Amino acid sequence: MAELTFVGAAGTVTGSKHLLAVDGKHIFVDCGMFQGVTDVRSLNDVPLPVAADDIDAVIVTHGHLDHVGYLPKLVRDGFSGPIYCTPPTEAVLGVVLDDSAHLQQELQERGYQHQRPYAPPMYYDQRDVDRTKRHVRAVPYHQEFDVAGVVKASYANAGHIIGSAFVTLQIEGRRVVFSGDLGRYGRPLLDDPEPIGAVDDIVCESTYGDRVHPPQPLADLRTALDSAIARGGAIVIPAFAIERSQDILLAIATLQQQDPQLARIPVHLDSPMAERVDDIFERFPGAHKTIAGDTPATPFGVQNFHAHRTTDESKALNHVAGPHIIISASGMASGGRILHHLYNHLADPKATIIFPGYQSAGTLGYYLTHGAHTIHLYGDSLPVRAQILHLEGFSAHADQNELKRWLGTATGSPHLYAVHGEAESAAALAAIARTAFGWKADVAHRGNTVTL
Ligand SMILES: [Zn+2]
Repeated sequence: MAELTFVGAAGTVTGSKHLLAVDGKHIFVDCGMFQGVTDVRSLNDVPLPVAADDIDAVIVTHGHLDHVGYLPKLVRDGFSGPIYCTPPTEAVLGVVLDDSAHLQQELQERGYQHQRPYAPPMYYDQRDVDRTKRHVRAVPYHQEFDVAGVVKASYANAGHIIGSAFVTLQIEGRRVVFSGDLGRYGRPLLDDPEPIGAVDDIVCESTYGDRVHPPQPLADLRTALDSAIARGGAIVIPAFAIERSQDILLAIATLQQQDPQLARIPVHLDSPMAERVDDIFERFPGAHKTIAGDTPATPFGVQNFHAHRTTDESKALNHVAGPHIIISASGMASGGRILHHLYNHLADPKATIIFPGYQSAGTLGYYLTHGAHTIHLYGDSLPVRAQILHLEGFSAHADQNELKRWLGTATGSPHLYAVHGEAESAAALAAIARTAFGWKADVAHRGNTVTL
């Protein structure tokens, strides 16, 4: 008998952790960090239902922090088993965990956030991250692997970020699929999600279970850039270092080809982490589509491209005049180099800030995209005079139609558990599973255990 406990990403979109108990063995599918507002972040402090040294293995779907960020804490607390993931995910996970340890250290040293004293817990440091990397066992798509002697597993492409997978587990004759985060169809950089096939239970993400993405992200970006160039100031694009920065670079390259005027605007990538991710795209050419003109000097084909690696190179951008594009992380402006670019440009009426991604409640990006007039940053109060634009079409998550399309590739009549979504979107996905497919479907609740 197998039991599944929803430890994270149930009622929230972060902290993905699903605990399987099979024949006395304990297996986590994903082991992510809770992120966002304080109430959600504090869930990282809730003890796990099973002690870390009682976990036998972890199966990772992809390298985003909300799916891998808790791993070094697990290792620090005594976990000694294997961590399975695809080869590109091993590389992404390394970059993400290095950055996570670094950010925790930085917050400790800074001692405040949004002007308030702030001493967050230090969950782990670089040493724990280095130890975690030694537990990783990389397995390519479609290669069956044994987990803890009780489960057979295999990965298939989820099309969400480079290396992302959904995983099919064979447990005592049942086929159980965990979607991880599901990507999209027809994207320029990544292949479509693969079909599901035969399945008895499916644990499915529902981030956009109740919404449909704007259909023309490229045209929307073109309009945003035209408007920003007409204002005459800096164009700041907060973008997640993984995938979003690459999506934006490729979109800019495409627009540059359509409009040679645009190619005269310099493009500055100020994100060492995004650069490391660009390197992963180079190392795994089979894990993404081939892009014309992609060279180290013109990544993803972008002309007039400038990479800024050191802090001094980053600060040099403060003195650039006229329209220029700055792409920097984090995507929700919750930390990282983007903060000093926002500090410089938010009060400038000529400047434009373009948010190309989801902004979760409580982040600086959320406040800015929801009409904040004043922002507190680095101990100062800043008026928001720059134009703020929010483009949601660049999402790396399937929307409602795409989730439905993917679920339509399942054979059999599975039981669906909706995870990784706010209450409304999870409920909407469960309703689709019932009405469109005639399946049993439930919204997963944190702490609940079901028998598979
Ligand atoms: Zn993800």
